[in-house]
Amino acid sequence: MDLNLTDRIFLVTAASRGLGFSVAKALSDEGAKVIICGRSEDSLKKATSMLGERAQYYVADLSKQEDVKKLVGNISSQMLHLDGLFVNAGGPPPGTFSALSDDDWKRAIDLTLMSAVWLTRETRPLLKMSDSPSILYSTSISVKQPIDNLLLSNAIRPAVIGMMRTLATELASDHIRVNAVCPGYIYTERVEEIMSASKSAEESINAKIPLGRMGKPDEFGPVCAFLLSPISSYIHGALLLVDGGLYQGMM
Ligand code: NAD
Repeated sequence: MDLNLTDRIFLVTAASRGLGFSVAKALSDEGAKVIICGRSEDSLKKATSMLGERAQYYVADLSKQEDVKKLVGNISSQMLHLDGLFVNAGGPPPGTFSALSDDDWKRAIDLTLMSAVWLTRETRPLLKMSDSPSILYSTSISVKQPIDNLLLSNAIRPAVIGMMRTLATELASDHIRVNAVCPGYIYTERVEEIMSASKSAEESINAKIPLGRMGKPDEFGPVCAFLLSPISSYIHGALLLVDGGLYQGMM
């Protein structure tokens, strides 16, 4: 299937590695031009070289509004439009209710919710200029069922879904499609680092997943490329789990 992505332009955030990189790679493999961002220039340089000569990067900390403004300002000084935005950032830290301070909450809100607000606001004028604009918010299975010891993720990520569902009506006048993707366990470098500390933790997670294993990044990126592409032109306001069947609720 041709996803009709050749020469289309996408901003993929937090993409020096992991889920963001898998999406940038899938889009780039389909002929799109990708702009990635992250906090470390060295990692971004390495990632961009793996994505090919048409990829480019900007250093930006997405938890800072001024960085997001600068990032999109730099893009709009070079491009007249954007065809899509993949919204992704690092995860908020673990912790229980009694262990987390107000500052922890505020930092997590900036990183997880406000980064999505700022990115959406700043890119909207560029997206409006595309003939098939689309935003895909990357969240987590935690929006469907809470994960132990991840209170900040459990509490703040659902707000991104609330925003996405509302924007499905509000941004429709600009013909901008919005959707969300909810990964379960995808074996990125970060997950590998966590699991290397406990083989038994990995085994017990695998045992809970009906497919019996965690997903691979290249089972995530292409799904997102499809949702961002003009081929999915009638999918709007949807939330898709990519979790090997881990979530077992009815809705
Ligand atoms: P990762 O650590 O492998 O990659 C995270 C990327 O985000 C890196 O490129 C890092 O540089 C960048 N980043 C972190 N904080 C940033 C910031 N403030 N500004 C800009 N860039 C920043 O992690 P991952 O496994 O790819 O996960 C990505 C996101 O998806 C995280 O929020 C994570 O909690 C969430 N998530 C991951 C999984 C999974 O199984 N991998 C499942 C559910 C949710």
